Amino acid sequence: MAKKKKKAIRLQCTECKKVNYFTNKTKNIEGKMEFSKFCNDCRKHVMHKEMKK
Ligand SMILES: [Zn+2]
Repeated sequence: MAKKKKKAIRLQCTECKKVNYFTNKTKNIEGKMEFSKFCNDCRKHVMHKEMKK
């Protein structure tokens, strides 16, 4: 069985810069991914952006 490579990406809070979420990038999505997610440090919904190494 061949293993499929998954591109794991980290989602970083745009305000406190903390990495709160992990997700896998699909082939359909190009460019940077952005999500509005709840940040425990900011205690509100903040835009989380894909973090590049
Ligand atoms: Zn935050």
